[in-house]
Amino acid sequence: MARQADLYKVLGVDRKASQDEVKKAYRKLAREYHPDRNPDDARAEERFKEISAAYDVLGDADKRKEYDRGGIGAFGGAPGGPGFDQSSFGDILSNLFGGGPGGAPGAGRRGRPRPDRGRDLEAEVSLSFDQAISGTQVPLTLTMSAPCPTCHGTGAKPPSSPNVCPRCQGRGIESQGQGLFSISQPCSRCHGTGTIIDDPCPTCGGSGQTQQARRLRVNIPAGVREGSRVRIAGKGEEGRNGGPNGDLYVVTRVRPSPIFRRKGDHVEVEVPLTIPEALRGAQVDVPTLSGRKTLRVPAGTRHGTVQRLRGEGPPRLGGKGAGDIHYRFVIDVPSTLSAEQSELIDKLSETMNGSNPRERLFVGVGEQA
Ligand SMILES: [Zn+2]
Ligand SMILES: [Zn+2]
Repeated sequence: MARQADLYKVLGVDRKASQDEVKKAYRKLAREYHPDRNPDDARAEERFKEISAAYDVLGDADKRKEYDRGGIGAFGGAPGGPGFDQSSFGDILSNLFGGGPGGAPGAGRRGRPRPDRGRDLEAEVSLSFDQAISGTQVPLTLTMSAPCPTCHGTGAKPPSSPNVCPRCQGRGIESQGQGLFSISQPCSRCHGTGTIIDDPCPTCGGSGQTQQARRLRVNIPAGVREGSRVRIAGKGEEGRNGGPNGDLYVVTRVRPSPIFRRKGDHVEVEVPLTIPEALRGAQVDVPTLSGRKTLRVPAGTRHGTVQRLRGEGPPRLGGKGAGDIHYRFVIDVPSTLSAEQSELIDKLSETMNGSNPRERLFVGVGEQA
């Protein structure tokens, strides 16, 4: 139903009204006749369309000038071109309200058109060596962007809601040129969102997002080590417009153990042996990650010899099985001796020093006799 109307009358403003006055008048009327507020009211819907279309022209200083010169027909048609017809209103409404005229108002209301994935976040946690080996749950407080609690993410000051962009009628795109030669680009007024916020939410300033502290508990898998980066799917920032959440990456800082030293997939333990144990061999108790075990140390074990317990080490991250524990034997050399020990060592020296173990160091070295 193309019909010429005085756009100034539609908005109820004087022809000399300032742009600001035009905007105010539009906001007031748009709120009053917004389909969200007037469900199933065809007259209000019609009025809302008129108001939006009038503001499309009068709200834009350039278009308004052209309209004043008589260059733009009512409802923004090109000079001499068709007015705004019913079918395009139908398109607009289906874009805006999902389902077109008669569709459930608000049900499919179009917000921002693009679903955005939430950003990934990264956090560090500090763990004891035992927690890193066996896995744990840690509490975390993260600061992240989340939908504003005041406006619930709309960006509009309650009880208002974002308005249909009058420039693109909610399509989010505007076309330049005509017919085959028209170019579509994101709407310059609403930047492609299809909506504009006339009355921004005071809490978030219209962005719809605020920085918020979120507490959560994250599960750290068994077997992490210093600097492991654990991905926790979906625990990053919330997605927008139905987009998926980002992920959370937790970097583990592991306090060292006084006993176990991490070596790749394995851990290493230094096991002191007395001189007689090294000479004669022994059964020695050693710590494991879950208790203790007895190792048979063969006679004549040298300093630095390593025995492995396979599969007794840390669980492998994201894989099967576990690493090993490496037991490195070190000969415990006392710094002082009792009188009795001293006497016995003297005897040992007499019997053992008959052969000089360093002789082979000098084989072939030209020493003058
Ligand atoms: Zn807000
Ligand atoms: Zn727009």
